[in-house]
Amino acid sequence: MVRLPKYIHNSQGTLWLTEDERDNLKISYRIKEVLFEESSPFQHVMVLDSFDFGPMLVLDGVVQTTSKDGHIYNEMITHVPLTFHPKPKDVLIIGGGDCGAAKEAAKYEGVERIDLVEIDEAVVRASKLYMPEVSGNLSDSRVKYHYADGVDFAKKQSAAYDVIIVDSSDPVGPAQQLFEPAFYESLHRALREDGLMVCQSQSPIFHGDVLEQTYRRIGNIFPYCRLYTAVVPTYPGGLWSFTIGSKRELPAPERIRFDKSALYANEELIRRCFSLPAFLKERLELP
Ligand code: SAM
Repeated sequence: MVRLPKYIHNSQGTLWLTEDERDNLKISYRIKEVLFEESSPFQHVMVLDSFDFGPMLVLDGVVQTTSKDGHIYNEMITHVPLTFHPKPKDVLIIGGGDCGAAKEAAKYEGVERIDLVEIDEAVVRASKLYMPEVSGNLSDSRVKYHYADGVDFAKKQSAAYDVIIVDSSDPVGPAQQLFEPAFYESLHRALREDGLMVCQSQSPIFHGDVLEQTYRRIGNIFPYCRLYTAVVPTYPGGLWSFTIGSKRELPAPERIRFDKSALYANEELIRRCFSLPAFLKERLELP
């Protein structure tokens, strides 16, 4: 009998990936084939070709990004901080091994350096090989790959970056420390005086506690803290949140210009992404 990778099961001749990290909700994707599978020192890495979402990156059984909707997350985690910063030159991406955020950051001519700090080389290799729609097969010379723990890397930096993008997986395993106050303090030190950081802060529907904790932790360290959302179909609940911590007040949305080619982001959407649903405003005690 052919051995199936962990997390995949065969139901009457049909292959399924079932994300089952939650007790009461299991999301399944019908799979055409396994394109890549490797157990790295950090996690179980797969790229699966799925019927509805095309090739998708799956870490420890959890979908991280897909060829169909990965652009929504990558555009929003990258273009919002890069358009709200007055003149981004040096960009640090922590995590982000699918290379989607780096691909979007490379659209800015003024950006001179993109340091991508990913703990797991296997994620970058798999994404470049099997997910070109997401990674863009990035060969831009401004992108420097550092295979290291983002926590250790950030600790060693001082006033070196204009924008830091924390494109982490969920707060378990190697990504857990990327949600801790000590890490946000390192990011504050690593940023120049008008710098800003952004991180993905989980689902407003299913991870309200993590979202609120992240927002409050960043708000305790950065003088300006803002939350925004986007809709990513393959993340539980669809609605997803991002939190910005900034050393300077962010410009008024009407002053934002956006002229990059993108599939989801446009000027209007970037200006309005800070408009929050009522339940989130109430939870975060926002006017
Ligand atoms: N877009 C996805 C999401 O929201 O689910 C996350 C993207 S995935 C590419 C996140 C990456 O963070 C993974 O490749 C993982 O290996 C990396 N990562 C996790 N912990 C890390 C750490 N401590 N330092 C650097 N990279 C880390």
